Order: sequence, then C-alpha cells, then structure tokens
Amino acid sequence: MEAARVFLVSSRAPVHEPERWSNRRYSLLSRIEVLARKVGLQEFVEEGDLVAVKVHFGDRGTTRMLRSIYVRRMVELVREAGGKPFVTETTGLGMLHPRSTAIGRLETARDNGYTQETLGAPIVIADGLRGFEYVVQDGVEVASAIAEADKLLVLSHLTGHFSSGFGGAIKHLGLGCVAKPAKFRVHIEGMPEIEARKCTGCGRCAEVCPSGAISPPEIDGERCVMCAGCGEACAHGAVKMEWLMGREMCRRVAASASAVVRAVGRENVLFFSFLLEVTPHCDCCAFSDNPIVPDIGVLASRDAVAVDAAALELIRASPGLPASMLPESARGAGAEKFEHLFQRDARVQIEEAERLGVGAAEFSVLEVG
Ligand code: SF4
Ligand code: SF4
Repeated sequence: MEAARVFLVSSRAPVHEPERWSNRRYSLLSRIEVLARKVGLQEFVEEGDLVAVKVHFGDRGTTRMLRSIYVRRMVELVREAGGKPFVTETTGLGMLHPRSTAIGRLETARDNGYTQETLGAPIVIADGLRGFEYVVQDGVEVASAIAEADKLLVLSHLTGHFSSGFGGAIKHLGLGCVAKPAKFRVHIEGMPEIEARKCTGCGRCAEVCPSGAISPPEIDGERCVMCAGCGEACAHGAVKMEWLMGREMCRRVAASASAVVRAVGRENVLFFSFLLEVTPHCDCCAFSDNPIVPDIGVLASRDAVAVDAAALELIRASPGLPASMLPESARGAGAEKFEHLFQRDARVQIEEAERLGVGAAEFSVLEVG
C-alpha cells in the first residue's frame, strides 16, 4: 500500500524573543490552522455538513485529557469551512459508573471543562441516553450520531494503555465511536455468567440489568444486551466475565474501527492526534500520571493507521522523561516505550487495522507551521 501523508506541527514555539511575547501567531492554537490547511480541512468539509468532532472527555479525576481550547479551535475551523460542528462522545461500558449514561457523561465533561460555552458547539452523546442507540455495520454497533454524521473529525489524545499498549486514532474509532454492545465485545469474551456458589441472591444485578435478563443465579443469554452492568453491580464477585487483554483485544479494536470507518465512509473521516502530555494510561482512568515523553506536537492525516504509526514512531524516537512511569532503561531515544510499560505489542492494532483496509502503516511525515 502507498505511504500515507501525515502532517506534523511541533508544539515547540518557533520564536523565543521576549519582545514577541504578545504575538499569537506563535501559539500552537494558531499553528494548528496551518496543519488543518495542509491536511485539507477546507476541502474535506462541505457547506452545511454535520461534522462530528469526536473527543474523549476523560473520567472524574483525569487531569491531562485534551484541553478544551484545542477542541474549540477545531470547531472554529470546521465552522469557517462551512460545516455545522457538534462535539461528541459515547457512554462508557457498564450501567453504574457516572459516565455510563449520557447524563453522567455530560456532567463529567462539564467538570473537566467541556461545555457548549467552552467548546463553541453543542455536545451530543452519540450512543444515546444509556448507550444503546446505534447503527449496525459489519456486525458492529456504531454509535448513531457518528454513523449519521456527514463527516467525522477524530481528535485523539495519544496515551499508553495497559491492555492494548497504546491508544490513538484506531482505538478512538474502535472503542470511542461505538455503542455499549460493541464495547462489550471488544473487552469481553462470551457472555456473563453467575457463579451460583458465590451468589447471595441479593438481586442487585437484576435491578441494574437494562433488559431483564437476570433471575439470580441465572442469566438469559438471549435477552442480555451486553452492557457489563451486572459485573459492576455485584459486590460478591459472583458475575464471571472474561476480560480480554493484549493481542486479542487489539484485533477486536481494529475490527471495530474498520466497521466505524465503513459506516461513515473512509473519505469522510479526518484525524488529528495530539502528542501532548503523553500519559502512560488512557483518559478513561480516574487519574493522570506524569507524561512519559516531552510534548511533540499535533499530527493530522486522512489515514487512521498512518497517523497512529507515525505517533508511535515519534514517541519511540523521543527521549523519555524522568519522574515518569518509564523505567530508566526505557528512557532512551529509540526505546519502545509502550512495550516497556505494559509488555504489550503496540504494533498489533496497526497491523490488524491495515490488514482490514482501515489505512496504510507506511507513512511519511511532513513538518509544517
Ligand atoms: S449481585 Fe451478585 S450476589 Fe447479588 S444476585 Fe447478582 S450475582 Fe448474586
Ligand atoms: S445480563 Fe447482560 S444486559 Fe443484563 S446487566 Fe449483565 S451484561 Fe447487562
């Protein structure tokens, strides 16, 4: 497959003269505009397009998710190109955690600084009130507001990830743009079961279950809509779910990403990846550790696989930061940092997504701005 173009704008300010302190042209917020021009945002957005701007809002306690000022800038650029932007996110797996419903997701977003006022666009929770509004594509439940949008702009905050190695554009598509049942199948093998010997019969799982599938200690697999709420509700460890890690999870993320891209149309998706505050854990975590590398900049591409491959390479080539989770032996430029952190092969998502036709792992980086 032909090498895909990935554009990079460095986070490093291009001037240092103190007398230029008030010139906003040197701000990354201004230079992102150059990046957007180079990747063709103006041509990508057509007059009147409903443009989904996909962001991860973080959890309560996350402190290093993508700052709202970057999202707002992208919203402004979409509007200038003639589009009608909305900022979007999906509910999390489960039924009890605050961000498992649209209401909790919006409240968490507000607490983390994302509101219509700060973003300059309405927020739409793409998979509905409880996470079951979707369009099925290739057997994957794609969040309805994502599938129905004319264009999709994926803004990813690059991070490590304890079960998939790292999280970037592919993971943002394959988990962030899908409804609960698809998230369930990426994370969990098979259906939940109750271990009768551990079950006290308290009925908490049945109260939480949105489909009435549970009469403890039985779960009717036919009625289960795959939310993982029963496992979350049981305080006795009686609900068995086989959580996936590593290679198999990465394969499923890539398959799910492929369905999202097919639902929206590959020509209708554009990626911006922020290599800023690259934390070891993803923004689903309720805390943020120190970044593992210095800020690098922002990448833009029409290709999800290339933008992730380029991000991995830039992070690999960068020196690692002391006072981070990276062990000293993995702080050198050229060290495979995510592999050292979690003993996961970060390339699996990339290889699998390329195999499925999501994009090209061969890339060329062109620095702009
Ligand atoms: S919540 Fe746990 S202990 Fe209670 S009924 Fe359900 S499986 Fe049994
Ligand atoms: S049985 Fe299925 S639908 Fe019911 S709570 Fe468990 S995972 Fe959700």
